[in-house]
Amino acid sequence: MPELPEVESIRRKLDVVLRQRQIAKIEVLRDKSFLSFSTLGNEFIGQTVLEVKRRAKILQIVLSDKYDFLIHLKMTGQLIFVDKNGQRAGGGHPSADWVNDLPGRHTRVIFHFIDGSRLFFNDMRVFGWIRSPLKQEVKKEFVNYGPDINDPNLTAKYLLEAAKKRQIPIKQFIMDNKVICGVGNIYASESLFMTGIDPTISARNINPKDMENLLQAMQSIIERSTQLGGTTFDGKYVGVDGFAGGFQNELQVYGRDDQSCLKCGNKISKIKQGGRGTFYCSFCQQK
Ligand SMILES: [Zn+2]
Repeated sequence: MPELPEVESIRRKLDVVLRQRQIAKIEVLRDKSFLSFSTLGNEFIGQTVLEVKRRAKILQIVLSDKYDFLIHLKMTGQLIFVDKNGQRAGGGHPSADWVNDLPGRHTRVIFHFIDGSRLFFNDMRVFGWIRSPLKQEVKKEFVNYGPDINDPNLTAKYLLEAAKKRQIPIKQFIMDNKVICGVGNIYASESLFMTGIDPTISARNINPKDMENLLQAMQSIIERSTQLGGTTFDGKYVGVDGFAGGFQNELQVYGRDDQSCLKCGNKISKIKQGGRGTFYCSFCQQK
């Protein structure tokens, strides 16, 4: 599943290539992928893309008229822009569709622009979705989300306050979307390792200094991964230039169970927390 750095990386690429493109038509090849299209389809013709934004892992394509598009890639979604010369930009789930002819078997929606360029929404497992709320209703989609991890207004004080109310381990706390959005499983393990915090201790027992360090670690690791295009594990596609991420080469603890800790040489442990694997060093992470 793409995590925040992959989604933010796609946003940055699409924001560059989609701005000022005017929609000629939209083809929906699978109704489930874009449910509101059947009633609103004609509304979008002739509209211009103003910018591409993001909140949590939901992309928002801001249009010139009443409606915007919201897109969630879920498990296997991809967004691939192809200009009229065949140049590609985008990303999402690593698969052969990154390089194969499009539309492909997993193409669900095609946005055609006036200049002949196209944006393909591919989704193998069809859990992803596109919606088109009225602009003034976009906010409602996000009422259950806490601030984004890269929100410049996010403070350690806010996290400490939120932690007082919760009886959960710090690892699950930082992954809770109601507290903060965007710290996925990889980045939770990595930032706890970087700051030497035991992933199993209760969030309410984290002291202010450690919370400050943890916040900075989460933000810097996620920004670094975003700049590298995120983390791509599927070996077959890690070399696809402009699509694959590079952060898998910089992982310090995630996926390294039974290997030596890069700081102290002890064995990295793997445990389950809330159904997800946590990787940590029981020697280095005792805070
Ligand atoms: Zn260690």
